[in-house]
Amino acid sequence: MPNKKISTFISFNKDDYLVVDVGGKHKLGLAFTQSKLLLEEGVEEDDTSKTIEFERKDVRACLGQNPPPGFEVFKCKLEFYEQTYKDINWGPIHFFIKIKDPREMKYIKEVLDKSYSRLKDKRATGFLPLSRVDLRIPKGKYAGSYNFNTKKGDKITLRPQDLKDRSYLFYVIMHEAGHGVWFRCVPKDIKVKWILLFNKRVTVHETSSARLLSIAKAMVSYETIKDFIKDECDSEDKEVVKEALAYIKRIHKLSPLQLEEIVQTRGKKSILNYWPKLANFGSVSPDTSEYAMESVEEFFAEAFAFYMTGKTLPKDISIGIEKTLKSLIR
Ligand SMILES: [Zn+2]
Repeated sequence: MPNKKISTFISFNKDDYLVVDVGGKHKLGLAFTQSKLLLEEGVEEDDTSKTIEFERKDVRACLGQNPPPGFEVFKCKLEFYEQTYKDINWGPIHFFIKIKDPREMKYIKEVLDKSYSRLKDKRATGFLPLSRVDLRIPKGKYAGSYNFNTKKGDKITLRPQDLKDRSYLFYVIMHEAGHGVWFRCVPKDIKVKWILLFNKRVTVHETSSARLLSIAKAMVSYETIKDFIKDECDSEDKEVVKEALAYIKRIHKLSPLQLEEIVQTRGKKSILNYWPKLANFGSVSPDTSEYAMESVEEFFAEAFAFYMTGKTLPKDISIGIEKTLKSLIR
């Protein structure tokens, strides 16, 4: 006898937040009737706000009326739109964080005003207003990001840890503004000057063939490449291994795991069939922040933020910023 089917629908009330399966994807939204869901995604703007019909069987979770933000439920990040305030200079500021203390709102407005007037002083507001500025809960290692979009307009996302830390927020906004200035206002010939300024800080390290060989030998004495890197590599060895593995991937189309499998079954010497004869790598010496050395865009944004917030910079960089500010596309 088959078991009698028991319906196990999740019960919920009007105005509860739900996670609903929509064609195989989990969506977060607010149930405003027993079959209509106002999706959380896009709710901040009239033209992106969407209501969908759903069936009770597709409800995966009921989160109640005040779910705690920051968690993940069925891969839906719990982040809730709270309010929008229109800033005449920056564009709409969408809050996806709850303002608990009225002082925080005051601080945000203050910092945005201060940032704008600093930019205006330097006639560097050509990238404004933005299509939007999002204030979101902290996630990952970045306190902010800049999205360049020629169709919809640019967007800044800020993920402040502490809204009361005004000087840090000022610095983060100036860093993101630096990206805006770079994308929208820096002429091409000046960009090339920055590329060269960045490149001046790159040192090329050449690895001797003896060292390359001894690294390969040491590596195959370990069970896995990971163990070898962890136990025996200094920072320079790590760069060499990274280069060698990238070469093996690019030229021989082998992943590190596949390389390990070959060595395990065909013997240690087999690594020499794939190991490169050359593994030079470049490193950059940080003189603003470590992060600035990731790319020329980050280098410029950091230099811009340092300059605008009054931090000291190496002479060639501060001169570079001053010259750039004089030649911006306005
Ligand atoms: Zn950046």
